Amino acid sequence: MKRDYYEILGVQRGASDQEIKSAYRKLALQHHPDRNPNNPDAEEKFKEASEAYAVLADSEKRGTYDRFGHAGLGGSGGGFDASAVQDFSDIFGEFFGFSDIFGGGGSGGRRRTRAHRGADLREDITIEFEEAAFGTETKVTYRRHESCESCQGSGSAHGKAPAPCRSCGGRGQVRYQQGFFSIARTCPSCQGSGSVISDPCTKCRGEGRIIRQKAIDAKVPAGVEDETRIRFSGLGEAGVHGGPHGDLYVVLHVKEHPFFERRGNDLHCVVPISFTQAALGTEIKVPTLEAEHALKIPEGTQSGEVLKIRGKGVPVLNGHGKGDLFVEVRVQTPSKLSKRQRELLQELQGITQVENKPERRSILGKVKDMFN
Ligand SMILES: [Zn+2]
Ligand SMILES: [Zn+2]
Repeated sequence: MKRDYYEILGVQRGASDQEIKSAYRKLALQHHPDRNPNNPDAEEKFKEASEAYAVLADSEKRGTYDRFGHAGLGGSGGGFDASAVQDFSDIFGEFFGFSDIFGGGGSGGRRRTRAHRGADLREDITIEFEEAAFGTETKVTYRRHESCESCQGSGSAHGKAPAPCRSCGGRGQVRYQQGFFSIARTCPSCQGSGSVISDPCTKCRGEGRIIRQKAIDAKVPAGVEDETRIRFSGLGEAGVHGGPHGDLYVVLHVKEHPFFERRGNDLHCVVPISFTQAALGTEIKVPTLEAEHALKIPEGTQSGEVLKIRGKGVPVLNGHGKGDLFVEVRVQTPSKLSKRQRELLQELQGITQVENKPERRSILGKVKDMFN
């Protein structure tokens, strides 16, 4: 049979939030496992009070409990989640480890280990447009911390094990009294590791790692774009005191192409054709990233028309297929005419009827949209 929450906290049913809070604080301080080591009874009482508080401090849960009792709070049997209570830290500050009690961290769980993961590194490289399209392999040279082989990364000379920290007695935390409360803080002498190096390695000055230049062969897959980041797992900074390496991120900067513009996997380019080629139709040679391609210009092609060459774009990154190549043809109006050319054009003009009506802008707009 579950005890009544008000009874557990020793308050009246109509108690104010403040009364509930201070009642809980009193009980929690009294029964906290840190103060009652190896006392399962106290731990049980502490958990009971915390559960009661978690419900009564939450006005919605409290209302439900008032009306329906334990049954109203669901069939979980009062399954208690310490993280659901926002103001535990408000009540206790950081000096009680709630996760240790409810999360099963164990009594030694609060001591920080000396080892920690190395930082990630970033290295920027510039590659050619074609290298981005087809992929490449390139050397990346960078500097990183590596584990000191003189001390095997321990930071301690002559293979001596680090000694327990005297300031905290190896606990990694120091407690001090502040009025009513005993407050625990990370030990400033050992940064919470609980141990200090009494005889530091001379090569790395006790850090356990040293800076080295490193070169790797970075494989750049086909289809990468400008600003693509490639992650090289474990190639970042060495961890401290035996911790794992961080990662290396290679950030690619792709050079522009003099002729092609890339949009996703598609390529765009502009090719000039003559006024007569446009009018009569023809076949022109268009460069692609690979071989030249014969492109048919239909009779009566307008300036600004876009012709698609399927599959001549950039390969899809980590996928199949390629984008397309879009060729915008731009009709060049003949200028600096010779006498003969002028005669022929004048003759043509005489037999061509042109109505100089303005065109609807929307048509022009559509063409422009394809390029934006
Ligand atoms: Zn060393
Ligand atoms: Zn210490």
